[in-house]
Amino acid sequence: MQTKLLINGQLVAGEGAAQAVLNPSLGTTLVEIREATPEQVDAAVRAADAAFDSWSQTTPKDRATLLLQLADKIDAHAEELARLESNNCGKPYSAALNDELPAIADVFRFFAGASRVMSGSAAGEYLPGHTSMIRRDPLGVIASIAPWNYPLMMAAWKLGPALAAGNCVVLKPSEQTPLTALKLAEFLAEIFPAGVVNIVFGRGPSVGAPLTTHPKVRMVSLTGSIPTGSAIISSTADTVKRMHMELGGKAPVIIFDDADIDAAVEGIRTFGFYNAGQDCTAACRIYAQKGIYEQFVAKLGAAVSSIKYGLQDDESTELGPLITEQHRQKVVGMVDRAKALPHIQVVTGGKAVDGPGFFFEPTVLAGARQDDEIVRREVFGPVVSVTPFDDEAQVLAWANDSDYGLASSLWTRDVGRAHRLSARLQYGCTWVNTHFMLVSEMPHGGVKLSGYGKDMSMYGLEDYTAIRHVMFKH
Ligand code: NAD
Repeated sequence: MQTKLLINGQLVAGEGAAQAVLNPSLGTTLVEIREATPEQVDAAVRAADAAFDSWSQTTPKDRATLLLQLADKIDAHAEELARLESNNCGKPYSAALNDELPAIADVFRFFAGASRVMSGSAAGEYLPGHTSMIRRDPLGVIASIAPWNYPLMMAAWKLGPALAAGNCVVLKPSEQTPLTALKLAEFLAEIFPAGVVNIVFGRGPSVGAPLTTHPKVRMVSLTGSIPTGSAIISSTADTVKRMHMELGGKAPVIIFDDADIDAAVEGIRTFGFYNAGQDCTAACRIYAQKGIYEQFVAKLGAAVSSIKYGLQDDESTELGPLITEQHRQKVVGMVDRAKALPHIQVVTGGKAVDGPGFFFEPTVLAGARQDDEIVRREVFGPVVSVTPFDDEAQVLAWANDSDYGLASSLWTRDVGRAHRLSARLQYGCTWVNTHFMLVSEMPHGGVKLSGYGKDMSMYGLEDYTAIRHVMFKH
């Protein structure tokens, strides 16, 4: 297992405190890894800064060539990477191999191409005798901070656009799930010039904080929780860095009386429980119109109770464990508080699974009300709530009555209604008659407390550039 950090082109052992990396399906330690010291973080940032001058002068074609090599390497090692990811996250091996790894390689291929077509605009004469042009140039050193739910995917979302645009990067994966990023470090060391990409390992306060506050870091890209985003924004205010924040979510899923109920049930069974619901876009906050509410809840309960949880290597496993016991206790607390409310019905699930690992039953809670904690706060577990609603106006108000603004979906056969609502839902993404589907060409990112900045797409690439005006006097 590759457990070394990547600093200035060299794989080096961390010299800080040892951290246990777990298999959450069993609750056992996979490996202990020593985190980076503040001096190693500083060395990584300085290496990135030193590499920037020459890397930023490479052509898009040069950078695309290396990104395509990286994508090929990922394809060639897909089984090994999927094994590491599923062992470290508890997610089913088949999901890691068949859903995530191809999408990860595709992100690098997309940005390889995107770098070659990115352009400035508005070349012209806006002042007599002067010609203006717009350049999009890289920013410098980017500190990229990733969460534990999709470790390699999040690394790809951050490395792809940053490198394609000509920046240098120091990436810190989550201390809970570093194994695939550290494996990637091996490939990066082979493919990229020394210092262009660096990977450090460790916890937020000991490694993330010295990285994000480093004066030579020009931009911080975080995917993580709202408190972490706020802490980073506050702690970097005096150095005025660009921020790219992909934070939490609590996606409303609106099912109208005229929807294809079976398709909606199947969609929620899949996209409310994918990755054990540990997904910022999980289809978790369901509003069902009163005409179909009873029927919908019964069908959803039956569908969700058939979800099979188990070990990541078992081919029939659909649902893995939660990431840690601490996180499971948070989910238990939220579900217990919901269950204590007289209006909540536990349709299926509702408790932790006895035995090894951090499993929680796939759970449907019906009768939830708009002000219930279970409706308002991110659970990040295999738990969905269902709330009945009367009409379009009521559900639109409830859907938008949230601190979050990442993803939403609505299910209806009425095209006019789909247009009306999708225009007014205050979310970075609205799906109609589906949920969760992401593609490299389209942007992903939120509004409100879900953050700002876009992952993937040309918008994602542009986020990692500075717009510059150059004016020529004739
Ligand atoms: P987290 O905020 O606890 O940690 C995220 C990363 O930040 C980790 O690498 C952590 O070590 C680091 N970190 C923590 N404190 C830090 C500090 N002070 N300075 C610098 N780095 C610090 O989040 P998590 O529990 O790993 O991930 C779950 C959260 O991520 C959920 O809220 C989820 O909604 C969100 N998420 C959002 C998206 C999105 O696209 N919007 C995608 C996936 C996950």
